[in-house]
Amino acid sequence: MTTIELVGVAVDTRHYIGGERVASGETFANTSPIDGTFLGDIARGGAAEIGAAVSAARAAFAGWAAMGPQARGAILHRVADLVEQNLETLAAIETLDNGALLRSHRRGVMPRVAHNLRFFADWAINELGHPDLDTRGHTNHVSWDPSGVAALITPWNAPLMLATWKIGPALAAGDTVVLKPAEWTPLSASFFADLTKQAGMPDGVFNVVQGYGDEAGAALVAHPGISRISFTGSVPTAKTIARAAAENLTPCSFELGGKSPCIVLGDADLELAASLAVEQYDNAGQVCLSGTRILVHESIATEFMEAFTAKAAALTQGDPRDPETDIGPQIHQTHFDRVKGFVDRAKAEGADIVWGGEPNGELGGLYFRPTLIANPAPGSEIVTAEVFGPVLTMQTFTTDDDVVALANGTDFGLAAIVVSGDRDHAELVTRQLVAGTIWVNCFFVRDLRAPFGGSKKSGVGREGGTWSFDFYADIKNTVFAPTGWKTATIEGSTHG
Ligand code: NAD
Repeated sequence: MTTIELVGVAVDTRHYIGGERVASGETFANTSPIDGTFLGDIARGGAAEIGAAVSAARAAFAGWAAMGPQARGAILHRVADLVEQNLETLAAIETLDNGALLRSHRRGVMPRVAHNLRFFADWAINELGHPDLDTRGHTNHVSWDPSGVAALITPWNAPLMLATWKIGPALAAGDTVVLKPAEWTPLSASFFADLTKQAGMPDGVFNVVQGYGDEAGAALVAHPGISRISFTGSVPTAKTIARAAAENLTPCSFELGGKSPCIVLGDADLELAASLAVEQYDNAGQVCLSGTRILVHESIATEFMEAFTAKAAALTQGDPRDPETDIGPQIHQTHFDRVKGFVDRAKAEGADIVWGGEPNGELGGLYFRPTLIANPAPGSEIVTAEVFGPVLTMQTFTTDDDVVALANGTDFGLAAIVVSGDRDHAELVTRQLVAGTIWVNCFFVRDLRAPFGGSKKSGVGREGGTWSFDFYADIKNTVFAPTGWKTATIEGSTHG
């Protein structure tokens, strides 16, 4: 089987290498988290397919790099046009494959996919620059040169959108790409590859190899022919990748997990605080940025709980294709068992389950009920480890010092949310938080011009605007002597 018929279109289940569809001897089964439906057998790549993809990307590199940002940008815009023309199909495929809400894919996620491509294409054309620096008449000219083949490895929770935060800047920078999507969500990347072909992207510039992390992924990051590794996923995988990358000293960008605090200060608007707290169940809790640790000032804890409970009770769990659904399934049985394991261990330790705490028996399958655990033991697993499911904890605090200590008290530093009616108070707290992104009285606002990434174990490096290009490009400084200058060095200058 080389293609599968889904939502009225044929989705190719093979790799996309050098502009051609390539099968593998072995395949792996792909099922939908919505109801366990078998979707198809997907090509299972390994070292041979990765080798072919890196060779194709290397062969295409010189031509793509030489095209320059304008011509590359025109092709990226054509891909974005095709994403918009196929928005309904992409949204439907992604929902079938990863179980996230169809209405979010339609309204927010897939339009963002197109936007990501357009943004980085335009940034390379219009914004990538540095004023020349003068050194006693000499001109330092900084340029961002294409670096080679970017290896992109992505997770399953927002497959195509996360991939385009990498594909966009890598291709706009003049790199060619080998993408290894998550094995639980292979389909949108495969469909996207067809769109790059239709848009006229030269063969070999964009390649997709499907497969398992410890096979295709491991072969890709160990390959000496790649120039960059950009990875979004878990901390343990990042450590494995970093060890492989060390062999070739391949630069890595890591966007990793989180255990972010959602801090409700004593002067917070309770309705807003409760709305923001409930939003942390988005995507059935499978969001790296989720503020899963609700930290509430003790003076308003009772009123906050009333408002939060009312909003949480109104959440509807069910089929993510139903427009009334707020919370869908977990991605996969393995992940479902992992989430359940965290909750079961917390229960065994005597945790106070305020609501949820178990699979949704009416729906069965991979649906885990939205869960709130109150007053977890300080330092216990449920408040320090990333669950990546619909499981929130709630703790109270008395002083700003207390909440800052609680908020910073994990190995992660991806994001934080602060709810406060007083901007100065909020700022006093945000200045002391260790996190890559902090939202005050809001959540999920992401401007691609701004830096995005994690502190501590939540990541290495930043994406967004020029930060993305700083990673994918080879940054070069060229020093021009003044016109007519004849001596080789400036007297008194230093080097080394
Ligand atoms: P994961 O680390 O298990 O897998 C991510 C990707 O890495 C997959 O494509 C997988 O096949 C691949 N992989 C696995 N082992 C590999 C290896 N040895 N070599 C190369 N590649 C390998 O993570 P996941 O379960 O898919 O994703 C969930 C994690 O991702 C969570 O920790 C979440 O917080 C994090 N995440 C972070 C961000 C962010 O922007 N910071 C965004 C989304 C998800």
